Amino acid sequence: MIPASFEYVRPKAIADAVAFLQQHGDDAKILSGGQSLIPMMKLRLARPAYLVDINTIPGLQYVKEEGGYLRIGGLTREADLEASDLIRSKYPVILDTASVIADPLVRNLATVGGNLAHGDPANDHPATMLALGAQIVATGPKGQRVIPVEEFFQSLFTTALHHDEILTEIRIPIPPARSGGAYFKLERKVGDFATVGVAAQVTLDEKGACQKAGIGLTNVGPTPIKATKAEAFLRGQKPDGPGIQRAAELAAEDAQPSADLRGPVEYKKAMVRELTSRALTRAAERASR
Ligand SMILES: Cc1cc2nc3c(=O)[nH]c(=O)nc-3n(C[C@H](O)[C@H](O)[C@H](O)COP(=O)(O)OP(=O)(O)OC[C@H]3O[C@@H](n4cnc5c(N)ncnc54)[C@H](O)[C@@H]3O)c2cc1C
Repeated sequence: MIPASFEYVRPKAIADAVAFLQQHGDDAKILSGGQSLIPMMKLRLARPAYLVDINTIPGLQYVKEEGGYLRIGGLTREADLEASDLIRSKYPVILDTASVIADPLVRNLATVGGNLAHGDPANDHPATMLALGAQIVATGPKGQRVIPVEEFFQSLFTTALHHDEILTEIRIPIPPARSGGAYFKLERKVGDFATVGVAAQVTLDEKGACQKAGIGLTNVGPTPIKATKAEAFLRGQKPDGPGIQRAAELAAEDAQPSADLRGPVEYKKAMVRELTSRALTRAAERASR
């Protein structure tokens, strides 16, 4: 349980951190909350020669609306989301998500940027960001680039980030009127990773039909999954009994779970169906308020 030895640096600016990452390539790893990286180092599953602690870089911890987007700084902690009046009042799907991640001790340190950059399909934010159509801002040697979240998760623990890029911001288009979202997670016990999680975000038209729907699935495949068949089906549909039932079946078809200590494939698919139905129902209720 003791990590291999490593050098530790604390750059004071993004440019310094990027330059260090560029110089040391795959030998250097960014440290944010350390809630995934440090356990992996203790188990010797990760052995970086250099840790680049970005916690002392100012200006990376914020939650605000600006220029048509909700902007979340890469270093924003889960606890910051839970305490944010903006998130509590306007983005219940993000509050649902942050508040079921691990436990309060972990949430005081773990960052939203780290949660996405880690590329773990069991992490909870990826599904929610897929449902919300987020954009990921990566800052590297050539400046900033914006990556649509549906292109971000490439394979198990692998994202579109380059080794010398820092995830500096998450941008979520501010949802129009009559929008609502919800996240449901099934866990074996409080604080556990999801057996299955489902995020849903809908925008209704004036007649109450779905103008737009986003659905993301947690821990039922090698990457977080965007349930595109269910999303396409919902467009123009009323989010009521039969519509939600069919969308939930389509989401279960998109899931690719494997059997493990959290259950067999059939059980996990059934849970995707059930949680999709619950998430869509609550999202539609919230959109109608
Ligand atoms: C007991 C326990 C239970 C947990 N349960 C859950 C759970 O239920 N749901 C859940 O979603 N998560 C869970 N987690 C994971 C936790 O939320 C992680 O800490 C978080 O996902 C990673 O964020 P971090 O800031 O700690 O990242 P770190 O551990 O510091 O880094 C993780 C990885 O991301 C990279 N990285 C970090 N920040 C950046 C950045 N800004 N730019 C580029 N790369 C970066 C690092 O180099 C590293 O490879 C749990 C963790 C623990 C210890």
